Amino acid sequence: MIYFNGHIHHQTANSCFVVNLTEKFDPNLSYFILGIHPWHIEDHDLNLLTSLIKKYKDHQNFAGIGEIGIDRSIKSPLLKQIEYFTSQVKLAKEIGIQCLTIHSVRAHSDIMNILKKENYTGSLLIHDYRSNIETYDQYQKNWNTYLSFGKSLINSTKSEKLFPKINKNKIILETDDDKDLCISKVYNKATQLLSMNNNRLNMITTQNFQDFLHR
Ligand SMILES: [Zn+2]
Repeated sequence: MIYFNGHIHHQTANSCFVVNLTEKFDPNLSYFILGIHPWHIEDHDLNLLTSLIKKYKDHQNFAGIGEIGIDRSIKSPLLKQIEYFTSQVKLAKEIGIQCLTIHSVRAHSDIMNILKKENYTGSLLIHDYRSNIETYDQYQKNWNTYLSFGKSLINSTKSEKLFPKINKNKIILETDDDKDLCISKVYNKATQLLSMNNNRLNMITTQNFQDFLHR
């Protein structure tokens, strides 16, 4: 069985694919998101993104803008990252997109501040979530927020401890850009932590993703 993978950088069925804006992809194969990642703000321009979003915004598999955000662990200037993130939140507001997939490394408060300032009211999927329950509560107080977990469930005891505390109706699982990580391995670990079987968890995460999309 193919488990639902909520965030992946190479396209497969039953997943949400993070499109590389300059490469071809098949919009009918899986859900997909379009955005400028904070690691790639030098390589992509907002005009290209805007035209792609306008082209695909009504496609049944379009799952919003992402992955976008702020990463304080990289060299790329913070101000530039903030500028790109803000522009993409504004774009979501302008076009009426209600789902954002967020990349945050030590930047949750920057991100929340911008979302508030821009009056964003849609839902959020924070991928590869590694913070704590308090930060999640702050998000959830302001936005309908889903958390996606992947490799950290396998290699971080902090994530292992956090994961069972999150409302089951808000969790999604992913492999991100790790081609060697099989999504079934993430489900195996997650169900072990939740004392649940894989099929049931797959039904839950699939439904959660639909809810994130308001469908
Ligand atoms: Zn990613």
